[in-house]
Amino acid sequence: MKHFGPELFKLTDRKNRMFALGPTHEEVVTDLARSELKSYRQLPQCLYQILTKFRDEIRPRFGVMRAREFVMKDAYSFHTSEESLDETYRRMAEAYRRILDRCGLENAMVEADAGKIGGDVNHEFVVFADEGESEIFRCACGYTADSERAESLGRDLEAREPVRPAPERVHTPGRKSVEDVSAFLGVHASQLVKTLLYKSNGKAVAALIPGDRTLNETKLAKILGDPFIEPLCEEEILRLTGGEVGFSGPVGLPAGTTIIADRLLDGQEGMIVGANETDAHLRGVKMGRDFSVSESEPISRAEAGDLCPRCSGGALRSQRGVELGHIFKLNKKYSESMNATYLDQSGSEKHFMMGCYGFGISRAVAAAIEQHNDDRGIIWPKSITPFQVLIVPLNLSDSHIVETAESIYAEFVSEGISALFDDRDLRPGYKFKDAELLGIPVRVTLGERNLKQGKIELFYRIEDRTELIERSELTRIVKEYYS
Ligand SMILES: [Zn+2]
Repeated sequence: MKHFGPELFKLTDRKNRMFALGPTHEEVVTDLARSELKSYRQLPQCLYQILTKFRDEIRPRFGVMRAREFVMKDAYSFHTSEESLDETYRRMAEAYRRILDRCGLENAMVEADAGKIGGDVNHEFVVFADEGESEIFRCACGYTADSERAESLGRDLEAREPVRPAPERVHTPGRKSVEDVSAFLGVHASQLVKTLLYKSNGKAVAALIPGDRTLNETKLAKILGDPFIEPLCEEEILRLTGGEVGFSGPVGLPAGTTIIADRLLDGQEGMIVGANETDAHLRGVKMGRDFSVSESEPISRAEAGDLCPRCSGGALRSQRGVELGHIFKLNKKYSESMNATYLDQSGSEKHFMMGCYGFGISRAVAAAIEQHNDDRGIIWPKSITPFQVLIVPLNLSDSHIVETAESIYAEFVSEGISALFDDRDLRPGYKFKDAELLGIPVRVTLGERNLKQGKIELFYRIEDRTELIERSELTRIVKEYYS
């Protein structure tokens, strides 16, 4: 639970005892399984719950999209073997795809980073939305990954800085940023190498990436095996390198500093780096000759237009999305740490193999609105609309209109059609505006002129189409529309 850090909602009761509101329930459910599932004969088993969860989000935003309180379904599966876990994992993934398809949400299953839950294999279910907080990279070959996980092979770059017989010191007064230095020296930003300094377990780490890229901190943390890496502050940088922030480089760093270079830097001949001296950079630096690297790993973020890591030919496209589901193969992570065991055929104790499967129910609603709207309001997909029909009587002082509206409402109720009745005494224009905003797929409009001829007006919000029908045909037509 300590991995949750500041997002854990903490409360103090009247007796000053500390409580936490549940952000996730792996431990609770593992504990339940430990006491209830004793024998291999009870396995595989899948436990699920639908409940409200709480996270003290740093940036709650977009109403229900990333709220601090949300409704989630989570399920946990327990197995005797990896094959059994794989089977449930696969079926769960298929079910999630089907749910999202039936909700009318354009989605993708994405390789993702395990974040705070842990485990080896995991996938996110992302619904595409321009305002979504996740960035997804896709290629025509089918490769799909989120920005924490995506790898790239970079792209072909223009001519590189030539290597020089020895690093050449250049005076770069006040030029701290990549933009300033590259403009000052008249080179492309990719010819610079950014040196980002961190501390991990009390030791200094230098991460080297091309000047026009950003670091993927999650990957760096994973390579170092330390989720709590922290960037060095200004004083620490000055103390370590002898130069101010903006002038750090890999040449001449104190012994014991771990240097991790981005894989895109492999084979780069001439580099421009900070000189570890205020107002100075070095040109023509060569990796391996002027400094040595502890590890070469893909630590920079993928960008749109990069070559795809799977097919090497396609270019990655970037799309924004909302994460609605996340499934994990936890394997024995929780069962071992909590010593949750069952007895196998031979009577010996074994740790459960586990999977966990989360689905954001309230977020699905937010994502549906995000994907289906126009400048007039929401356009609910038929499958998840809160009501199937909106009944709008136009003149509440006309008893014929009111009686008809009420008889239609009663008929819908008895036929199992969910309807919302707008019985507010307001002008028609006002009611129509709200109807568009609410976005219920079918609107039944009752006006004097049409009713006199026994007709009713139907408006279809998704198709943006109006139709005049006989009163007697109403229920059949609505049922057909939803079948
Ligand atoms: Zn590809």
